[in-house]
Amino acid sequence: MSTQTTSTKGAALITGAAQGIGKAIALRLAADGFNVAVNDLSSNSENLEKVAEEIRAVGVKALTVYADVSVEAEVEKMVGAVVEEFGALNVVVANAGIMMWKSIDDLTAEEWDRVMSINLRSVFLAYKYGGRAMIAKGIKGKLIAACSVAGKIGKGMLASYTASKFAIRGLTQSAAQEYGRHGITVNGYAPGVIETPMLTYMDARFGETVPGGKTGDFIKFAEAQSLLGGGNGEVADIAGLVSYLASTEAKFITGQTINVNGGTFFD
Ligand code: NAD
Repeated sequence: MSTQTTSTKGAALITGAAQGIGKAIALRLAADGFNVAVNDLSSNSENLEKVAEEIRAVGVKALTVYADVSVEAEVEKMVGAVVEEFGALNVVVANAGIMMWKSIDDLTAEEWDRVMSINLRSVFLAYKYGGRAMIAKGIKGKLIAACSVAGKIGKGMLASYTASKFAIRGLTQSAAQEYGRHGITVNGYAPGVIETPMLTYMDARFGETVPGGKTGDFIKFAEAQSLLGGGNGEVADIAGLVSYLASTEAKFITGQTINVNGGTFFD
């Protein structure tokens, strides 16, 4: 393990950081000089502890905080633990999310509630407790959330996911209006199709549910949609935007949900 140094940028908390986009954001913010707290479910602890080791190897401090981001008491405790460890909280990235590929007819009300809780209530809780921690210390912080291209245009078989992501955009606009007077910006990132375990899930479900479909079809279909011809997005494409939104350079940007999608959708 390499020597840890004191960060000059402050502290960042990234949820759902054991893999995929959240992991890439955590490592990017570490490279930017933040001390980084990484969250995930305890069921993903092996991966999360490895991410923390990679962060420490960059030369900043890392903390693992296990919590279900849809549970209020756990989010409050998690934010408290980060402030206690790092002295303050400057950036919160509410990244954790799940996808449920099912027709509306097949979707149960319980599944609907689960997606809405993990994707949407989690962002409300991250803004609430993250914002509170920033205001308590007079920090002009950054609240950032994962939206999706499905938060801009409806997608069949993804009704609960789409509804949760549309709502994140509205919540982000409301939060920007409330937190602006504290100098806190609130923004979202809206990835298109990015290579992560979530894409593997989506591709498998597409293959299972589309008549005559097979694994790999969705990935190929999505690759063909990009205007840039280079395949689907990489996690670094999202981490780069979040790095910018978390920086002081982005101080005049708030209430926005920014597309990173290879030109597959414009707004
Ligand atoms: P992923 O499934 O690879 O990773 C999500 C992480 O969140 C996992 O580590 C998982 O354990 C964690 N998580 C799930 N439920 C949790 C909970 N209740 N509490 C804490 N952690 C929890 O997903 P990804 O592709 O890296 O996506 C990250 C975010 O980006 C999600 O919000 C997703 O909706 C969004 N997004 C992804 C894509 C894409 O193509 N991959 C596109 C648009 C938006």
